[in-house]
Amino acid sequence: MDKIALIKGDITKMHTDAIVNAANSSLLGGGGVDGAIHRAGGKAILEDCIKIRNRQGGCPTGEAVITTAGNLPAKYVIHTVGPVYNGDKKEKELLLANAYRNSLIVAVENSIKTIAFPNISTGVYHFPKQRAAEIAITTVKDFLKNDAHIDQVLFVCFDEENYSLYQTLL
Ligand code: ADP
Repeated sequence: MDKIALIKGDITKMHTDAIVNAANSSLLGGGGVDGAIHRAGGKAILEDCIKIRNRQGGCPTGEAVITTAGNLPAKYVIHTVGPVYNGDKKEKELLLANAYRNSLIVAVENSIKTIAFPNISTGVYHFPKQRAAEIAITTVKDFLKNDAHIDQVLFVCFDEENYSLYQTLL
């Protein structure tokens, strides 16, 4: 099994231990992949998100939290918040890398072996897709170099543009 794999499709269909959600800081759901995950997973995911909100008041950009995956085939959803791409570009790049890295840290803490990522921040948060793909791949590869827990990371691309960018980079 390759440590890194690329798939074109819908992340809600993945049978990995965890799927990652490109959430927003409120953790209350939104559009894009966030909406798709909450729709397909059912209300158990939102209930867990609300518990986390009550405990820590949402999720800061670049951080990650974990919930049940409800009715999804995955066991867990790791919700991370990517940066909105405006203002200081260098800072946004560091925050995007944090979102990938902190999701992997949460995965390891929860004995997750297989994890699927969407293309965080490349939808309504408008991060340039090429740069986002480079950061995603570099951050995941660097993490896997020093980790013995994760068996496989899937990059799940929903749109053709991201898919072909990842194909070239991987
Ligand atoms: P963000 O707010 O982080 O930009 P979006 O959900 O708007 O989040 O977009 C992030 C990426 O998720 C986009 O590249 C979009 O094509 C992709 N996406 C949307 N729906 C799905 C899905 N069901 N599975 C996987 N990726 C998806």
